[in-house]
Amino acid sequence: MKVLKFGGTSVGTAQIIGAVMDIVKQEHQNGEGLVVVLSAMSGVTNLLVDMAERAATGNDFSKHLAALEIRHFEVVKQLLDIPQQNPVYTRLKIYFNQLEDLLQGVMVLKELTPKTRDLILSYGERCSTLLISRMALQHFADAVYVDASEVVKTDNAFGQARVNTELTDLLIRGLAAENTGKVLFVTGFIASNEAGQVTTLGRGGSDYTAAIFASALNASEIQIWTDVNGMMTADPRMVKKAFSLPELTYTEAMELSYFGAKVIYPPTMTPAFLKQIPIVIKNTFDTSFEGTVIKHNCQDSNLPIKGISSIDHISIINLEGSGMVGKAGFSGRLFSLLAREQINVMLITQSSSEHSITFAVQPKDAEKACRLMEQEFELELGAKKLEVPVIEADLAVLAIVGENMRKTPGISGRLFHALGRNGVNVRAIAQGSSEYNISVIISATDLAKAVNAVHDAFFVQFNKTLNVFCLGTGNIGKTLFEQLQKHREFLQDHNSIQVKIAGISNTRKMRFSVDGLDLTDWQADLDAYGEPADLTEFVARMKEMNLPNCVFIDNTASPQPIAFYEGIFKSTISIVTCNKIGNSGSYSQYETFRDTARKHGVDFFYETNVGAGLPIIRTLKDLMVSGDRVQKIEAILSGTISYIFNNFKGNANFHDVVKTAQEKGFTEPDPRDDLSGKDFMRKILILARDAGHKMEAEDVDIENMLPQACLDARTVTEFYAALKANAAYFNKLKKDAEDSGKVLRYIGKLEDGKASITLQMVDESHPFYSMSGSDNIIAFTTDRYKERPMVVKGPGAGAEVTAAGVFADLINVGAN
Ligand code: ADP
Ligand code: ASP
Ligand code: MG
Repeated sequence: MKVLKFGGTSVGTAQIIGAVMDIVKQEHQNGEGLVVVLSAMSGVTNLLVDMAERAATGNDFSKHLAALEIRHFEVVKQLLDIPQQNPVYTRLKIYFNQLEDLLQGVMVLKELTPKTRDLILSYGERCSTLLISRMALQHFADAVYVDASEVVKTDNAFGQARVNTELTDLLIRGLAAENTGKVLFVTGFIASNEAGQVTTLGRGGSDYTAAIFASALNASEIQIWTDVNGMMTADPRMVKKAFSLPELTYTEAMELSYFGAKVIYPPTMTPAFLKQIPIVIKNTFDTSFEGTVIKHNCQDSNLPIKGISSIDHISIINLEGSGMVGKAGFSGRLFSLLAREQINVMLITQSSSEHSITFAVQPKDAEKACRLMEQEFELELGAKKLEVPVIEADLAVLAIVGENMRKTPGISGRLFHALGRNGVNVRAIAQGSSEYNISVIISATDLAKAVNAVHDAFFVQFNKTLNVFCLGTGNIGKTLFEQLQKHREFLQDHNSIQVKIAGISNTRKMRFSVDGLDLTDWQADLDAYGEPADLTEFVARMKEMNLPNCVFIDNTASPQPIAFYEGIFKSTISIVTCNKIGNSGSYSQYETFRDTARKHGVDFFYETNVGAGLPIIRTLKDLMVSGDRVQKIEAILSGTISYIFNNFKGNANFHDVVKTAQEKGFTEPDPRDDLSGKDFMRKILILARDAGHKMEAEDVDIENMLPQACLDARTVTEFYAALKANAAYFNKLKKDAEDSGKVLRYIGKLEDGKASITLQMVDESHPFYSMSGSDNIIAFTTDRYKERPMVVKGPGAGAEVTAAGVFADLINVGAN
């Protein structure tokens, strides 16, 4: 004997009911006894609730009722042979008439009791099951319609009735005996009390009906057919990367569903657990999916947790006061009171000092709970032994669940780290004593971000997504997009990293997408659909979107974005930048960036501030954190000046070399910006600060290599003329160097806390003697590397290597 249950979406349209019938036929052919439990067609229960509430407030429900009738009649028309249609129309019509009478009554009385509400809701399952059982008759002669309210017996707790198992089992067995060999089509969700009045088993209760029948009939299996691939690591509507679980234990399934995994109704697990009947969750829309099996003795899993579930709207109530301390029975009094009034408490935490209790309830119950508490604890309140209870609304519960948690240390650390890094504030924590779940209460607005971040943290080997906002689409920005696009699959396959560009802005246009912008055609897309650019708005929208693992990339060379950095860190967003202006501004700003990033647990990476993609900042940091001390740094960090001095030899003229450098795109539009040493100064300053020196820009001594006339020139053309006019000066420099077997080098130095940039002549023995192209070179002399310095050398300019450096920084975000 097997019990198959089909949920609302599985019976939502004529087409899918056809697929359901194929599944039932298949099982029937296997020769086993079958019970088929059915839900109301999708959306019908909600519509019935809505109509009942409309009626109770005196609003018209007739249009909805007519639509409901048509929806069912349409299915009859499509699925039943013509001769069978009329009797079903007649039966359905009787149901709809009864429903109308009931709603009319509610409207007249302007009162909707839980009892009437249950009766109204019962028509959803009755209609769907009636018509599907009649359709089944066309395929097998032994299909029987069963109204579960005749056999499932409960108490009077309308809306969420408790089952009288003994009596129910007897009745179900009697029914099965009368119908041996037949296929029972049973209404899910509905039951009745001793007086025969209709009750319901709670929303989502059809799953439970299936387990009740399976238990009474000692079935070999319960199949729950729904619209997703079984129980997944998280709600797939919220977490796109959620994946299906092959197996889980009853306890795990119970915990996940209790905290919001709607795919199965929590009470379902109890009868199945007691009789050890496996539950298989299958997908009506994808029958090739094997199913998630809920059973005893699952195989060892290497997943640290099985899943994450959440409840998106709850309120918490805080009760504080000395009146609770050491008072045995205080919480007993409190929670019995709430239970008596049918207020469901979803989660409780108590401080170890017993000075306060926090518990979570549905928002609709919060006020009532407070009123009840104020009555119950009137004396304590009067004597100031208790504070007036406080409600906090707009909260959500996030729970991680899994039996492996007990054996694996560090699970809660990982949870809180993921939440903290994403700026999610935790209001209360509860860990079940069984250690099968840890639940946290957070703000409802953070829920989607939190669930995704926690999913990434636990299933990172299965995928991590970085949500990126890019400012600047010049050479570096463009090249970065090309590189990201080119390496997308590699990143996914080898590092399980997905980079989503959630926003792009240049100085003209900006564009956003929560799902990630398509990089194949970003330029045309930005031009065609972008909004007018506005940096303040760009940053505000980035914060508002509240995405997990969020990174802001500043690929500009502009001072404007810098003012936003601190606020960005405060919103727990990491920054990756090639823009040097931030780090080379005032020292206090430099310090603020680091402090704020650290305080908010986010990354600030700027490897490309010095030497493009060369690992210079990283090397320096590694030396520092491993306890080394920098004695001296010598460096050539201007690719432009490197190029110029590498080519200023033999018969070459200085102004020609500068001109060629400019033509090759190695200089700023005004080459003096490079030759004045300002850009170089910024890099030395950043290195000096990273090496631990509190230094300002003015503290760097820059030797000017340009004659005054060159500096005074008003335009670039005039500047070139001045260079030409001073050719003798430059030629002398060159000759002096060549005569002594040396070369000219513009070298930055940090030693004894002093930084300088000077034009020097170096001989063959110097590590900077042989250089080519626009290479950068840096030599670190440290306590450990004092005999021979550690040298990093390579191409230190150009869009390709700079973008690659930004890319590497981006991939490292969140790695530690
Ligand atoms: P049915 O109508 O078949 O009973 P439900 O709507 O009650 O289906 O439950 C299925 C839904 O549960 C899915 O569509 C999915 O959005 C939601 N869900 C929530 N959490 C999970 C989870 N962890 N795994 C699978 N589905 C989940
Ligand atoms: N139709 C009921 C509901 O929507 C029961 C169920 O679908 O399980 O809650
Ligand atoms: Mg359901």
